[in-house]
Amino acid sequence: NRRILLKARPTGRPGPEHFELAETPLPEIGKNEVLVRHRFLSLDPYMRGRMDDSASYSAPVKLGEVMEGECVGEVVESRNPAFSPGDWVGGARGWQLYSAAPGHTVQKLPGVEGVPPSAYLGVLGMPGTTAWVGVTEIGQPRPGETFVVAAASGAVGGVAGQIAKAMGCRVVGIAGGAEKCRYVTEELGFDACLDHRGDLGAQLDEACPGGIDVYFENVGGAVQEAVFPRMRDFGRIAFCGMVAGYNVRPLPPGPNLTSVVRKRLRLQGFIVSDHPRAWATWRERGAAWIRAGKLRWKEDVAEGLENAPDAFIGLLEGKNFGKLVVKL
Ligand code: NDP
Repeated sequence: NRRILLKARPTGRPGPEHFELAETPLPEIGKNEVLVRHRFLSLDPYMRGRMDDSASYSAPVKLGEVMEGECVGEVVESRNPAFSPGDWVGGARGWQLYSAAPGHTVQKLPGVEGVPPSAYLGVLGMPGTTAWVGVTEIGQPRPGETFVVAAASGAVGGVAGQIAKAMGCRVVGIAGGAEKCRYVTEELGFDACLDHRGDLGAQLDEACPGGIDVYFENVGGAVQEAVFPRMRDFGRIAFCGMVAGYNVRPLPPGPNLTSVVRKRLRLQGFIVSDHPRAWATWRERGAAWIRAGKLRWKEDVAEGLENAPDAFIGLLEGKNFGKLVVKL
C-alpha cells in the first residue's frame, strides 16, 4: 500500500516537507470489512484545517497518521455480505491506495448514467451538497434577486451559481483570471463573472448596479472586503468558507463590519455535515439535472498519489481549475 502521512504541522503555507509518502503492506480485512482499491481521491480546502492542531468542528489529523480525505474506488475483496468484488464505493478512506473498510464506512455508488465515479467526490458529493445547503437553506435567494458567488469556477461555487440560476436569480460569479471567468459565463451559464485580480469594486458596481441580495462566501479577504459594502438592505450572506485566509498566520485583522449594521444584513455560517438529509436530496436532484443536461462541472485531475501534496498546496492558491481530484 502507499499512503501519504501528515509529517509536520505547517505554520502558514504547507510545503512538501509537511507530508510523507509511506509504503506499507496491504491491509488484511477482518469480519464485515472490504478491501477497497481507491481510484480517485478528493482534495478539498478543509484539509488545511485538519493539518492544524487547533479547536475546530472536527478533530485534527494526528502526526504520523494518514491524511484524511474522501475516495471512490472498487471493492477487491469482501468479508461483508452487502459488498462484492467489483462494486464501486465511496467513503472517507484517506490519502492512500488501499484501505480495509468496515462496511458501514463506505457507500455503494448509485451508478447514474453519464456520471463518472469521480463525480461523487464533487458535483454529486460533498462540494455539491455544500452548494445545495448553502443556497437553499442558508442564502435562500428569491427569484429576480442578485446572487453573487466567490470561487465561482470551483467545486462548490460552480454548483451554487447553477442552483441559484435555476431558482430564478441573476447570478454573478467571481473568479481568478480570464479563462476561469469565461468558463463560468459560457459553460456554466452565469450572467456575469468578475476577475478578482482586477478592480473588483468597480466591476461589482457595473455588474450589480442595484447591489447584491445574496452573497455565497467561499473566499474571504479582499473579495469579501469588496462585496460587503455593496450588499443591499436586508441582504443575506452564506458563510461557506474563507480559503484566502487558510494559509495566513497570524490571522489578518478582521473586516470592517459597518455594512452589516447599516444594511441590516444576516450572516450565517454552515458546515455541510450538519445537514445529513441534504446529501441524498442533492444527489437525487443533481443526478436528475445532469440527465436533463442542466448541470455542468469541470474536474482538475492530478495523476498519482505522490502528487497529491503539490496539487493540494496549489488548491489553496487558486491553481486548480474545477474540482480537484487525484487519479490513483
Ligand atoms: P475550489 O474548487 O473553489 O478551489 C479553491 C478556489 O479558491 C481556488 O481555485 C481559487 O479560485 C480560490 N482561492 C484560493 N486561494 C485564494 C485566494 N488567496 N484569494 C482568492 N481566491 C482564492 O474549492 P471548493 O469549491 O472545494 O471550496 C470552496 C470553499 O468552500 C472553500 O472556502 C471551502 O473551505 C468551502 N467549503 C465549505 C464547506 C462547508 O461545509 N462549509 C464544505 C466544502 C467546502 P480563483 O482562482 O477563482 O480565485
